[in-house]
Amino acid sequence: MNYQKLITEVYGDVQQMGLCGKVASYIPELASMNVEKFGISLITTDGTVYEVGDTYEKFSIQSISKAFTLAMVFATEGENLWKRVGVEPSGNPFNSLSQLEYENGIPRNPFINAGALVVTDIIRTKSEVPLEDIIKYIHSLANSNTIASNKKIALSELKNSSRNKALAYFMKSFGNIESRIDKLIETYCYQCAIEMTCTELAQAFLLFANHGKNPTTREQLLTTSQTKRINAIMQTCGFYDEAGEFAFKVGLPGKSGVGGGIAAVLPGKFSVVVWSPGLNQKGNSLKGMKALELLTTKLGSSVF
Ligand code: GLN
Repeated sequence: MNYQKLITEVYGDVQQMGLCGKVASYIPELASMNVEKFGISLITTDGTVYEVGDTYEKFSIQSISKAFTLAMVFATEGENLWKRVGVEPSGNPFNSLSQLEYENGIPRNPFINAGALVVTDIIRTKSEVPLEDIIKYIHSLANSNTIASNKKIALSELKNSSRNKALAYFMKSFGNIESRIDKLIETYCYQCAIEMTCTELAQAFLLFANHGKNPTTREQLLTTSQTKRINAIMQTCGFYDEAGEFAFKVGLPGKSGVGGGIAAVLPGKFSVVVWSPGLNQKGNSLKGMKALELLTTKLGSSVF
């Protein structure tokens, strides 16, 4: 398969469609992103890198960080994790409060904000330096030592985090959060503000395409079964209330973020990252969704 030709073609086709979308503005610092940016990186499991467009520019990974924190916590907690967070799609926006009430403070899945807060809470209770540990983990996967959290973006979200705090306080009332809420939200905002390039992110995501092996060190970080489960959660919950649409059109497990990134994998074959900051109404990258739809359609292959 000529992957370079494939992604170059997809890139050109999407550019011609004139899709635009809206940059996330509820985190004010993200509102200044250039909506024209667009990059695609695809890395096969043998480590060959294919790139087109703005693949060397760092962007805010936002909710894609939730796939990494889930991997860290699942490896240490094992099945016990599912006592505190579910594995069902929510069908609701990522920051929805309503479901939590009738489900007694147990979030539907680890990718809605409530679930990700529980996961980060577990990291916080086990580590003196939770953010450093998250960044170290991603460094090792991406084989890069230039990955950091953008303080301006983190503080911008922190100042506008009433809803995430509400989710956390609500879960704490059910005994499902141990940390102090201000500290938890701080770690969460800094984790979401981690910046990576398309290629760094695709390299790190090879973990999920490679049956749980660290793509850099070849260390087995997750069992094959754990990797299968994370991929299943990405497939069913990685795009919030658009997860069905993503499965329908793209057919790959993946995770999106409001920074405009989408990371996805075809297990055993490749990881792929698309970045374009213009979002659709559900908070997923408009060009990113279209590019991945064209990619699996032209390829004639997906997990289905
Ligand atoms: N930090 C963002 C938030 O909590 C992440 C949301 C996202 O990328 N979907 O609102």
